[in-house]
Amino acid sequence: MKVAQVSNDTIKINNVPDEELNGRKGAVVKVLGCGLCGSDIIKFEHKTVPAGTVLGHEIVARVLEINSDTDFKPGDVIVTTHHIPCGTCVYCKNGNVSMCRHFKETNIFPGGFSEKVFLSEEHLQNVAYLKPENLTEMEASFYEPLSCCVRAVRRAKLRAGSDVLVLGLGSIGILMSQALKASGMKVLGCDILAERVEVLKGFGVDAVTNLPPDYRPDAVFLTAGADKTVEIAIKTVRDGGKIVVFASTPDSFPFPNNEIYYRELTVMGSYSPDLCDMRESLELLRSGRVKVDGLSTVYPLEELEQAIRDTKNAKIMKAYIKI
Ligand SMILES: [Zn+2]
Ligand SMILES: [Zn+2]
Repeated sequence: MKVAQVSNDTIKINNVPDEELNGRKGAVVKVLGCGLCGSDIIKFEHKTVPAGTVLGHEIVARVLEINSDTDFKPGDVIVTTHHIPCGTCVYCKNGNVSMCRHFKETNIFPGGFSEKVFLSEEHLQNVAYLKPENLTEMEASFYEPLSCCVRAVRRAKLRAGSDVLVLGLGSIGILMSQALKASGMKVLGCDILAERVEVLKGFGVDAVTNLPPDYRPDAVFLTAGADKTVEIAIKTVRDGGKIVVFASTPDSFPFPNNEIYYRELTVMGSYSPDLCDMRESLELLRSGRVKVDGLSTVYPLEELEQAIRDTKNAKIMKAYIKI
């Protein structure tokens, strides 16, 4: 089968032996498509994964072969992803599922950017769902990234009706804005790119390229990986407000101790989803409360590297690798 493997500065398409069940519990699925995540791009660019790694975890696939206690059967089209929290460790018990060691270790083989993937029984039982019939494969591929946003919204514990600014309207900012709105917040999206502002407005959420001068939101969600946005977030959030960090930045900053202390700010990070966020994410997509039509651009597996470049250069919002 064909796989797209990280190989130093490039991505190579190689042939490797097919994934097979070989008596194991779990399923072998034919990948139909896989979304390209910002975290895939960072792993590739910062070379944090070894050569030969197959990235991709926002998977839509058809079940080929299965040996499982679940109800999935051959032919089912499912959505799935890679990491699963254990539910019992100190991190899980305190709601920090992204820090769970089991979560970090669990994976799919070899990765979403390949023709076939092996899913363990644990994956089938916890993070795989039938693709809702009213969603296209591409729409359903937003199940995992949206679930990350759902968790960030939940973790922020904002009062209904709070004013929330989403800074950065890439695909994650667009999802985050809609997830916040769906949970009852008054959302304003902001991006320097006018076409991205228009995309969010098209989904029924207010958005601007320049913030109103007296705007002091209760919370700011940082969904752009730019240094400048950190400064804007601290300056804009109201005294006593929250900043939710959902993007890495090129530089690290001195800890703004006095701003946080004197203005009683809460700064928090949020990364990956818990199981309940995944269920809610799929329901938000199925019900149309979060819309994703038109967000993705399709690339064949052979053009994964081009898709990475185009996403990085903001030529596209989101890449869907059709396999
Ligand atoms: Zn992702
Ligand atoms: Zn755990």
